Formats: sequence, C-alpha cells, structure tokens
Amino acid sequence: MSDSTTTTPTPDPAPVSVIGLGMMGTALAAAFLAAGHPTTVWNRSAAKTGPLTAQGAQPAATAAEAVAASPLVVVCLSTYDTVEAVLHPLAEQLTGKTVVNLTNGTPAQAREFATWARKQGAEYLDGGIMAVPQMIAGPYAYVLYSGSQSAFDAHRETLARLGDTKWVGTDPGRAALQDIALLTGMYGMFAGVLQAFALVRSEGVSAEEFSSLLVPWIGAMTADAAAMGRAIDNGEHLTDVSSLAVNQAAFPNLLTTHRDQGVNADLLAPFQTLLDRAVAEGHGADGFSRLVELLKS
Ligand code: NDP
Repeated sequence: MSDSTTTTPTPDPAPVSVIGLGMMGTALAAAFLAAGHPTTVWNRSAAKTGPLTAQGAQPAATAAEAVAASPLVVVCLSTYDTVEAVLHPLAEQLTGKTVVNLTNGTPAQAREFATWARKQGAEYLDGGIMAVPQMIAGPYAYVLYSGSQSAFDAHRETLARLGDTKWVGTDPGRAALQDIALLTGMYGMFAGVLQAFALVRSEGVSAEEFSSLLVPWIGAMTADAAAMGRAIDNGEHLTDVSSLAVNQAAFPNLLTTHRDQGVNADLLAPFQTLLDRAVAEGHGADGFSRLVELLKS
C-alpha cells in the first residue's frame, strides 16, 4: 500500500553571491551558508575567502565571476566609492540581476547608485545593517531595505537569513536616511555615556560599577522617545514633565561640574546654546520635542 500523504517539497535555498568579505561581508556570507544557500564569494584580498570556502562557499576569482554566479548579488564594501570601483566595470553583467547594496552611505549616494544600476537593467535594493557582525543572523539584528519592492518581495526570504527585514519604501535613499538617523541616536547616546564615565572617573569611581546606574537610567530615558515622537508628529510640545526652562536653568551645572572636575565638555556645550535659543524664542514651557523645530538649518 502506498503512502497517500503528500508533502510540499521545501524549495532549495536560492543561490547568492557576496561581494566584499570584510568583517561584515564575512558574517553575511556565513549566515547564507549556514542556512544552506549556495554562496559564491569574492573579495579584493583573496585570502579572506579561505574560512568561508571551508564552510562550503564557492570562491570567485573575480567580481565578474561572482556576479555571474547568482541572480542575487549582495555587496558590502567599505564605501560607495569602492562599490562603484568594483561594479561600474561590470555594467553589462548586471543586466537581469538583483543588487542588494549593504554598504554604509548617504541617501544621495544610494539614489545615485540606484539610478545607475537601473540603467544597467538591474533591480536595486539599498540596505542599512543595524547590527555588528557578531549579531548577524541573531535575534536582535535587523536590516533596513528600500528601492525595488518587487526585488524585496522576491528575495525577502533569503535576506531574512541576515536578520529581521524592515522594508522602508521605494525611494532607494530611505534606508540610508533611517540608517544614518539610527546611527545619530547611537552616537549621541555614546557621547553622553562617555562624558558620564569621564566625570565619575575624575574622582576615581569605577566606570563598570557606575554602569549599573547608567544603563537603567539611559533605558528609562529612551523609553520616553515614543511619546516625544508623538509630540513631534502632532506639533504639541507643551509639557508637564520637564520643561525647557527648567533644563536651561540646570544645564550650566553640568558645564560647571565638568570644568571643575577637569573634564572637557565640548560635546555638551552646543546643547546649552540650543536650550538658550529655545527659551529666548519663547518655548520655555515646552518639552524637549520642541528642539527638533530648532534643528532645521
Ligand atoms: P571592513 O573594513 O572589514 O571591510 C571593508 C571591505 O571593503 C573589505 O572587503 C575590503 O577588501 C573592501 N575594500 C575596501 N577598499 C576596496 C577597494 N578599493 N576595492 C575593493 N574592495 C575594497 O569593513 P566592514 O566589513 O566592517 O564594513 C563594510 C560595510 O558595512 C561598511 O560600509 C560599514 O559601514 C558597514 N557596516 C559595518 C558594521 C560593522 O559593525 N562592522 C555595522 C553596520 C554596517 P579587502 O579585504 O581586500 O581590504
């Protein structure tokens, strides 16, 4: 008697090529390999293909060979200049391919490259990786994508091997914009955290010990960002939590304490200027959300 149970065959993982095997590109290729995708890899310095070849990757002798090997070409190089240097000579080979460029760049660079790639007959997706290499394929990694929606839909399953996929729109510059905005939040946070460590260290307090106070404090304050975002979207800045006038009055204490403790406060000083301006322009009763209006240049 034959078994009447039918099973839907799992489609074979799609082939992918990865161009650029720096710290990030290596992690991306390893994630595709771990998920069973036939993965072709190319790097300027060929030695970096070694560990991936040991994991089952197919090394390409040239970038052109890597492009030819798969319909999906993931690029992760140091800068857009590098991406252009590697891909411009391959214009003809890109016809019919999908290029996913995960190199960090500006929205303008992403749009310009998208226009060029489309002219060659390629589908183009620009991406922003919100993870360090060790986080790739882990639970907290996500990647922003914008550009060709049909390319995103077609390759989403493969791209999801790297981390959660966040579609942000058809404007190819949109992923870079949000990537840079997220990095801006991160650098602002690190700037404050480093100032705080420098301040406590000026009196010999252990930075690690102090982090047990700092981490929950930063977490509690960033939790307020959603309400701040709502206030910004609605243009309703009046606050009953912490007014700009109160903060303007207290902020000199930060600058004075840094000076007294022999800690440079150059990163903080512009914030005092912004608070002063906001209050001078009559926004003292508003909350921090108002400051976004003053940041237009
Ligand atoms: P690496 O410095 O480790 O790697 C840079 C890559 O670019 C290498 O493959 C290098 O090749 C290649 N490259 C540089 N110049 C040239 C050139 N002239 N011609 C050909 N190839 C070149 O950087 P990462 O892998 O860390 O970063 C890659 C991208 O990912 C960057 O845009 C970065 O901002 C972004 N990113 C990185 C994160 C991270 O935590 N590392 C996080 C999020 C994004 P070679 O090995 O031959 O030098």
